[in-house]
Amino acid sequence: MTPATPEIIAQNLARVHARMLVAANRTGRDPASVRLLAVSKAQPVEALVAARTAGQNEFGENYLQEALAKRRDPGPLSGVIWHFIGTLQANKTRRVAENFDWVHTVDRQIIAQRLNDQRPGEFPPLNVCIEVNLSGEASKSGIASGQLPALVDYVARLPRLKLRGLMALPAVATDPAEQRRPFSELRQLLATLNQRGHALDTLSMGMSADFEAAIMEGATLVRLGTAIFGARAAKRS
Ligand SMILES: *Cc1c(COP(=O)(O)O)cnc(C)c1O
Repeated sequence: MTPATPEIIAQNLARVHARMLVAANRTGRDPASVRLLAVSKAQPVEALVAARTAGQNEFGENYLQEALAKRRDPGPLSGVIWHFIGTLQANKTRRVAENFDWVHTVDRQIIAQRLNDQRPGEFPPLNVCIEVNLSGEASKSGIASGQLPALVDYVARLPRLKLRGLMALPAVATDPAEQRRPFSELRQLLATLNQRGHALDTLSMGMSADFEAAIMEGATLVRLGTAIFGARAAKRS
């Protein structure tokens, strides 16, 4: 697999922004209310630098070791906002708390508590989203929506975390109406929490295949990999 050239990456970014604008306009949303997260797992550091040069400032990584390797020589990536979007095991929380600005995949108390305790005092509170396992989702990650309010109340009280909102990773549907359904569900969960007194401002939902549907349902952050960088090389073990 040949990595995308800097020119292609810049072009892809421009196309993605144009499509985001159209999707926001279709539902009367302010385009500035939707941010783009470039998902750079399995991409070489050169691809991130190319995206950065083209104006992209927020990157999402799934694998801790890979992310830390990319950050070893910050150089052109200094000042980037780093989001951890992978599965988070308890033995990885310390390095995540020390090296990221956001975590999207908090789905149980112990993970939240460890991130809170391990967030270095000199850093601002770590921004977190709670990952929700929506109805009918095959994946095992994420908390069931019935248990969400209790976890939200717990995380909201942790002083070294800043609870920002909800994240979901539904299976991609091909039909646009089908695509919108889980995103609508997540939006309603967030609205209910805010009616109960929370002030959550983030809906992290939508990937390359369904981000327009997510924006039409209120996504504030879409997570795109292939639409920016092209297909990923198969992960070798
Ligand atoms: C890989 C990944 C993405 C991006 O997927 P694409 O289909 O390449 O856009 C988004 N979110 C999460 C959590 C991912 O693991």
